[in-house]
Amino acid sequence: MKYIIDLDGTLLNSDLANLDAVEFVKTLQESSMEFLIMTNSIKSPSLIKNRLKQVDIHVGLEQIINPIVAMNLYTEKNNYKKAYAIGSQTELDQLSIELDHEHPEIILLLDFEKNNIGYSELQKIFDWIDQGVPVVTASRSHYYLKSGKKTLDTGAFVTLLESVSDVTIEVIGKPSKEYFMAGVRKLNAQPEEVTVIGDDWRTDVLGASKAGCESILIQSGKYQAGDEVHCKDSKCVKQLMHVLKP
Ligand SMILES: [Mg+2]
Repeated sequence: MKYIIDLDGTLLNSDLANLDAVEFVKTLQESSMEFLIMTNSIKSPSLIKNRLKQVDIHVGLEQIINPIVAMNLYTEKNNYKKAYAIGSQTELDQLSIELDHEHPEIILLLDFEKNNIGYSELQKIFDWIDQGVPVVTASRSHYYLKSGKKTLDTGAFVTLLESVSDVTIEVIGKPSKEYFMAGVRKLNAQPEEVTVIGDDWRTDVLGASKAGCESILIQSGKYQAGDEVHCKDSKCVKQLMHVLKP
């Protein structure tokens, strides 16, 4: 069995390792079991690697997948050569595709912030969509909380663009099938050979089942008593080492 393991709430609880997460990862490594760590955060894999290192979990960069890594796999698989992308510089730096602001073959929506999006950029994207240029997004989240204040997030603009065009913009982020399939391919596996472990049934368990993977819900992080009812085909465990028990 190969594993896709969620990051926050499963391996980490804020800046601490979750319960037996250190022992669990060491056991997988000692038994040469392959795994990927998957997150919806678009912080760079090297930042995530360092967060894990702080708690004595040591993994390679290639074992971390975020929506931007998955977008790179997606553009490579589909042979796109030039993209227009919206994101901060640290996010754009993670892209492997060449950026082209004149004649993109695909539009990548990573993260909309007040300094990288305005009327003219939205109009430009709208024009390209109208001309048939495909678009994918890392998020459909409409807003997030910034110091308690609801702040517009990427998904709000995705909905705006969809509402003025006839397209559905594909998400490459949990719980999308495409995101989990990118993980499965990165593990050189078939979906049925992969088990997804996570604390959030809406993203981890649903996403795994869309891709045809098995899943295990862990009772930490976002888990709330009773979540099992949404995961009838999944095992539910109190701690990670229980994943390895028959
Ligand atoms: Mg989680």
